[in-house]
Amino acid sequence: MKILRKLQQQNTIKSQLRRGHIVISFIISLFIFIPTLFIEYQQTIKHQNEEMANYLDAQTYFFESWLMERSRDVHTMANLDFVRGHNFEKSQSYFQDFKEQTEFADLIFVNREGIVQFDTVTEYRRNGVGVNVNDRKYFQVAKETKQQYITDILISKVTNQPIIAFASPILDEQQQFNGVVFGTVNLHTIDGLLQESRVGFLGHAYIVNQDGTLLTELASNNNKRFPNETKHDVFKQNFMIDEHILTAAQHHSTQSLTIYKDKKGEWVLAKSKPINQGKWYIISEVAVLEAYLPLLKRLALLAICILLGTFFTIKIMLLINKSIEEPIQQLLKGVGKVEQGHYDYKINEHQMAPYAKEFQELCSSFNEMSAKVKADTILLRELSITCQLTKLYNRRYLIEQGEHVFQECVEAQNPCSCIAIDVDFFKKVNDSYGHLIGDEVLKHVAKRIAESVRSIDIVTRYGGEEFVILLPITTLESAVKIAESIRINVEEHPYKMADQLIKITVSIGIAEYTIAREIATFYELIDKADQALYVAKESGRNQLRVCDSAGNFTEHII
Ligand code: GH3
Ligand code: MG
Ligand code: MG
Repeated sequence: MKILRKLQQQNTIKSQLRRGHIVISFIISLFIFIPTLFIEYQQTIKHQNEEMANYLDAQTYFFESWLMERSRDVHTMANLDFVRGHNFEKSQSYFQDFKEQTEFADLIFVNREGIVQFDTVTEYRRNGVGVNVNDRKYFQVAKETKQQYITDILISKVTNQPIIAFASPILDEQQQFNGVVFGTVNLHTIDGLLQESRVGFLGHAYIVNQDGTLLTELASNNNKRFPNETKHDVFKQNFMIDEHILTAAQHHSTQSLTIYKDKKGEWVLAKSKPINQGKWYIISEVAVLEAYLPLLKRLALLAICILLGTFFTIKIMLLINKSIEEPIQQLLKGVGKVEQGHYDYKINEHQMAPYAKEFQELCSSFNEMSAKVKADTILLRELSITCQLTKLYNRRYLIEQGEHVFQECVEAQNPCSCIAIDVDFFKKVNDSYGHLIGDEVLKHVAKRIAESVRSIDIVTRYGGEEFVILLPITTLESAVKIAESIRINVEEHPYKMADQLIKITVSIGIAEYTIAREIATFYELIDKADQALYVAKESGRNQLRVCDSAGNFTEHII
């Protein structure tokens, strides 16, 4: 029952409008938010993809150029006359000078047997003279194909550091293989180049080889600088990327971005591009959160705008609600008043002026309707308590109002008298002159009675040709005087009909209520007056009879 009542309470126009507005606002917000989210998401991805592609293009171009330049450097050195002529002293001095001007860590001269003849001297490390490099691929490529070669990552036989090497064969005058010149570059140098060349890119980038070994440092490895003495296995363990990242790099399409968890377990967007003839990959990564931050900011702004919009829309809608709700409340109040019988209640039409025209019309119609109901009700009431022939009150009124007046007298300990009047031999009048004349005679008698009483007295046509008058705050003596004046008034004013006079007399019975008397109720009072009237009739008519304090009916008050 409680739920039903609650539902009914929620079923008001106010709550329905409110709910409707909230649902509409929500739907509109969704229709704005979801497509915007979709479009913004697509654009962010597109933008990120383009930015990473541009970055990778620039880096690739930079690195390829750099690799080419270093290859050319080594090639130039291998073709110098004093190098080809195995002038070791001059070559070493040249190598030494050249090294200072470039990113090479070491420049090495290897003889045709693969033994290091000399290298550039550094005071911090031992030289590599005598080291055998004939097992190295760059030596074998130079020897067999007389081609230049850029290696993958190698662990230096001299420094034990990871390096890459640029090798070029030395050819004698007959173009026969006569040794190799190679330059080594530390991974720090490559890393430095990558860091230097980054412009306007949020994420980070690194280079790996086909095995997944890092040529550059990952951001997470920043504190973990390449150790000076690194065993190959330790190096592999510490400076290798995860399998899934490598696989992703190898299968990256040029069009799209890949998403995966990086070494730190953070979700990243990634894109890669092969360099150094496909030996390496340059991979760029941006944290997903970082990439989507502008999108999140825009969406947050949009959400705030939608919330503000919804807030103001609801405010406006509440105002509109109010302009519907308030006149309905006024009308409901009016209907309630009329329901309670306040037919004269009017809705203030001035107060309705700010509301919709329909409400104003409804309000004036209501006022007209209530005025009509009021007029009709008054008429009905009048009809229901009035005798249409004599225009006196009827018996119904006497019963309703008389009881009330009588009780007031009882409570105030006032006397209250009653006079019962009956026209004598009225049947004869009817018989002699017909009913219409009989009616006129009744009207005539009613007038004579009415003009003989006071305004506080209630004069009623009790039925047929009998009248009852209730006289509040009136003693028996006063009532007798009034009754006598009525009797005389009627007797002395016969009804005039054309050239004929119809003589009328009335018989009257009078009773009084006082505290001392036997009479206790209003009905007893009427009954006693009626009994007194009966005695008056019996006593010869056209006279009064009084019910005295002892309950006897007498001609005079004793
Ligand atoms: P009594 O002196 O004993 O009162 O004699 P009465 O003839 O007046 O009394 P009765 O009760 O015998 O007759 C009353 C008559 O009044 C009978 C009825 O037709 C007539 N009457 C009652 N109401 C009306 C009315 O409204 N119009 C007319 N024309 N006659 C009425
Ligand atoms: Mg009569
Ligand atoms: Mg009668």
